Amino acid sequence: MFFEETYVLTNITIIDGIDNDPQSNMFLRVKGRNIEEIGSMDAYAADGRQEIDLAGHYIMPGLIDAHIHMAGGRGTGEWGDTEILCEPKEVRAMRSIYEAQKMLKAGFTTVRDISWNSLYMKRIFFDNTLPGPKVIACGPGLARAGGHCDSPQFPLDFVKQNHFWAIIADGEDECRRAVRQVLREGADQIKFWATGGGNWGTDRITDTHYSQEEMNIICKEAHMIKGTMVCAHCETEETIRMAIEAGVDTIEHGEELTPELCDLMVERDIILVPTLFLLANWYDLLPIGDIDETRLVRPDAFLYRDYYHPIPRAEQEAYMKQVIDSFELALKKGVKIALGSDTVYEPSCEYGEQSLVEFAELVKHGMTVKQAIRAATYTAAEACGMQRDIGSIEAGKLADLLILRDDPTRDVEVLCNTENIRCIVTDGRLTVEEGRFAW
Ligand SMILES: [Zn+2]
Repeated sequence: MFFEETYVLTNITIIDGIDNDPQSNMFLRVKGRNIEEIGSMDAYAADGRQEIDLAGHYIMPGLIDAHIHMAGGRGTGEWGDTEILCEPKEVRAMRSIYEAQKMLKAGFTTVRDISWNSLYMKRIFFDNTLPGPKVIACGPGLARAGGHCDSPQFPLDFVKQNHFWAIIADGEDECRRAVRQVLREGADQIKFWATGGGNWGTDRITDTHYSQEEMNIICKEAHMIKGTMVCAHCETEETIRMAIEAGVDTIEHGEELTPELCDLMVERDIILVPTLFLLANWYDLLPIGDIDETRLVRPDAFLYRDYYHPIPRAEQEAYMKQVIDSFELALKKGVKIALGSDTVYEPSCEYGEQSLVEFAELVKHGMTVKQAIRAATYTAAEACGMQRDIGSIEAGKLADLLILRDDPTRDVEVLCNTENIRCIVTDGRLTVEEGRFAW
């Protein structure tokens, strides 16, 4: 296919990203990078511009993953961050381009990324030096020393120089400085870890990692620069409450929601990014059992406290059930929910593939397919702070489109099978055709 600067897609069915009731017999005019007009074929009049007849095709907004880490690492998770930190960061930076391009080919025209690389990658994709998705960059997230993203098997100074998704900040002054530094590098949003993330003994998901004062400063500093949103990794009820109090815009994970916290999120228009697949299968995905314990490097700080008492299976299962219960509660209470896969590194999880698995997981646990499409388009655009420009098919928005062979509202499997994507359009330009870059 070849798209001119101005063109009309005719005889299409539109799924708009908002209510997602398929509207058939439609046309869509594109001018430059924008959607100019949408209408019924009954009211269509040719005006001399290029016409592309797509009879039998479905058009929907490009998908958006609101939580990934294109940090360019390779790892199995067995050694935590060790394998990744042993590589030069330049290699990781280059590999992150491949990760981003895989996201685009899977239909994700925008990603909200938490990694140092996002700050620099977004410039390359923005100016079309290389094909890639729009990267809404959080840059590195703020974590305490010993927090998620510190890797205590290495000296602290080395981690500060080399970590891929973190900037270590302790105390109110360092938090303020870190926010300013990350914004200075070009971050669109600020991320922080209110709890640990479960990589190391120092990094338990059940521990609170920032004080209320530190969270307040992070939000205040970020919001001083208008348009900057704050996302908080919260895995406990206590930290969800603290983060809401501090004024965050999105809660990541949030597996200990209560009815009261859901009400607060609705009232304050805070979006939940549940990263459901990863957490609902957490203990089944961990490479436990394959590890040769005798060879394992154990930097865990609480070795003697924890080692002899591994988490029993019943407790693991209770945790995974809690994840699902929390998601179902949020859905029932009307909390805005955005798709985020938390893809971190291959081969443990594949870019693109895990995002589509997350899409299916949202449906598995109670969303309708149409709701899941909204989570992966309009609501994810809100989580990116980009709903003015992307996330739905509306006149005036950027033309980031998927051209599909089948109706994505028919069954969750339609989007999960990338062979159903005939073309991907970004900023009005044909970028991917039949799984290959068109330029
Ligand atoms: Zn994450």
